[in-house]
Amino acid sequence: MKIDIITIFPDQIKSFILEGIFRIAQERSSVEINVHNLRKWATDKHKTVDDRPYGGGAGMVMKVEPIYNALSELKTENTKVVLMTPKGSPLKQETLKRFVKKPSVNLIIMCGHYEGVDYRVHEYLIDEEISIGDYVLSGGELPALVLVDGIIRLIPGVLGNSESSKEESFENSLLEYPQYTRPEIFNDWGVPKVLLKGNHREIDKWRSNRARSITRKTRPELF
Ligand code: SAH
Repeated sequence: MKIDIITIFPDQIKSFILEGIFRIAQERSSVEINVHNLRKWATDKHKTVDDRPYGGGAGMVMKVEPIYNALSELKTENTKVVLMTPKGSPLKQETLKRFVKKPSVNLIIMCGHYEGVDYRVHEYLIDEEISIGDYVLSGGELPALVLVDGIIRLIPGVLGNSESSKEESFENSLLEYPQYTRPEIFNDWGVPKVLLKGNHREIDKWRSNRARSITRKTRPELF
């Protein structure tokens, strides 16, 4: 899977993908992550990528031409272009799985900034708009990294234990059960006894009950 990220702040992305799951995915799987500076495709000598909005109003809008030029150069036959925007459909675990199912796709992720991008980008140049939640951030870089992190950890072989993503939150419409590790007692705070006894039927029952009660408490709408 090839992932191209287009941004006006390439260093923010570059430093992130050097470590942790991003590095592991690039080493252990066929994932390739490339970062592109949008200014490379700006057409004037000042490398302008934004301008004032038609109709007036605060802030600047990202211009359509540099984005068009970038996509024309990077697109291949099998490309899917995603725009990170609060106007997009909310990102879900299901969305991530959908991307992983089509590993041959070359994913291009466009990060907006300022007041967003010229709406003709939404209308004519992209395949999908994705939002990472109902709030507004100042740029699409963190949203793009959220999307890529979520995708690459689902690629077989990237996480150490292939089971580790199967029982997680949002699988079976539930949040995950609580996890504990050593020491058994810290500051008088003990680990639930059932987890120490090695009776796997009891442990499974306890985990399933706790997953349900946590979900009911914080995310009842998931049921
Ligand atoms: N004025 C726009 C918001 C622009 S925010 C509006 O009201 O819709 C600037 C950029 O940050 C966006 O172009 C997008 O790329 C990114 N961004 C901000 N919030 C986001 C979110 N919740 N999900 C995905 N991208 C987001």
